[in-house]
Amino acid sequence: MADQIPREQWAAVIEKDGGPISYKKIPVPKPGHDQVLVNVKYSGVCHTDLHALNNDWPLARKTPVVGGHEGAGVVVAKGELVTGLEIGDLVGIKWLNSSCLSCTFCMQSDESLCQAAELSGYTVDGSFQQYTATNAAHAARIPPGADLAAVAPILCAGLTVYKGLKESHARPGQFVAIVGAGGGLGSLAIQYARAMGLHVIAIDGGKEKGEACVKLGAEAYVDFTTSKSIVDDVKAASGSDGLGPHAVLLLAPQERPFQQATGYVRSKGTVVCIGMPAGARVSMPVFDTVVRMIQVKGSYVGNRQDTQEAIDFFTRGLIHAPYKVVGLSEVQSVFDMMKENKIVGRYVLDMSR
Ligand SMILES: [Zn+2]
Ligand SMILES: [Zn+2]
Repeated sequence: MADQIPREQWAAVIEKDGGPISYKKIPVPKPGHDQVLVNVKYSGVCHTDLHALNNDWPLARKTPVVGGHEGAGVVVAKGELVTGLEIGDLVGIKWLNSSCLSCTFCMQSDESLCQAAELSGYTVDGSFQQYTATNAAHAARIPPGADLAAVAPILCAGLTVYKGLKESHARPGQFVAIVGAGGGLGSLAIQYARAMGLHVIAIDGGKEKGEACVKLGAEAYVDFTTSKSIVDDVKAASGSDGLGPHAVLLLAPQERPFQQATGYVRSKGTVVCIGMPAGARVSMPVFDTVVRMIQVKGSYVGNRQDTQEAIDFFTRGLIHAPYKVVGLSEVQSVFDMMKENKIVGRYVLDMSR
C-alpha cells in the first residue's frame, strides 16, 4: 500500500493572517504511532476556517497551518498503536482532532473541553490537503459506501447543531425555535430537530429563507424583517398554549437574537448558544431568569459518540445538507464569497482538483 502514497501533495496553507491562502505542494505527512494517514477526498469549508485564516479569535493558532476540519476520506496507512481502523476504512476529520482521553473532561466524554485538545486546521494541520495524518481515536467512522462529499458538512456543521439539540434537552413532541434557521447550520438544525421528533419554529429574515425553512420541515416561520413583535410571534407559534418554545437554538451571527431569546423561551426552557458573533454578549433580566427558571448555556461541537450519532442520522437518509463542489485550488474564492456573506448552503472542496 505504502508505495502508492506519493511524497508530495497539493494543500491549502494559511501562511499570512488575512490571506490569501496558499495553494501549493507540500510533503505528505507520516502518521504518528496513534494516527492514521487519510487520503482526503472532500472537505467542507466552514465559517471557522475563515476565522482561522484571519486569526481573529482569542485562541492561539499555529503558523503556517493547513486549514480545514470537515474532511472525508480513506485510511491509507496507520501507526503501530492504532486498533479498530484498517486500511480502506472511510473516516472523517473533524474540528476536535485529538484530546488527551485521560483528563477529568475526557473521562466524562466532554472531550471538547480537554485542555490538551488539538484542533484541525488550527493548532494542527487539517483537511485542506490530499493526505492528512489524524488521531485514530477521534477520527469519525464513516460507513462503507457513504457519499464522501455529502457527509463532509455533517462532520462539523451537522455535529454542532445535533449536539446543540441534545444539550437543549427538548424531547419529542416539544417545540424548538431555531434562530438563523435559513443559514447553513440552520438548514441542518431543522432536519435534525424534525428527525428527533421536535416541532420547529424557524426564525430568520426574508421570504426566500422562509420558504426554504418550511420546505425543510419547519412548522412556522417568523420573519424578523417584518415581525412587529418577535416574542409574540414565536410564542403564538409554539402550540395551543402559546407559552413559548421549550428550547431555543441560537445560530445567528448577530448579537440581538441572543438578548431576545429569553423573552420568548418557555418557563423552565433552555436557550442554547452556538453561533459566535464577534464580541457579542448575552444579557437577560435576572428576575425573569429566576422566577421563570430559564437556563442559558453554550454548546461546542460534540464528542465521539455524538459524532457517530450525527453520522447515523445522515446514513439513514434523514439529513440532506445542500452543498456545492469546487476544486481545492478554488478555496480562496470560497473565502471571498464567505466574506461577502454570499454563500447559501455549504461549499465542499474536491481534493483531486
Ligand atoms: Zn466548523
Ligand atoms: Zn483530556
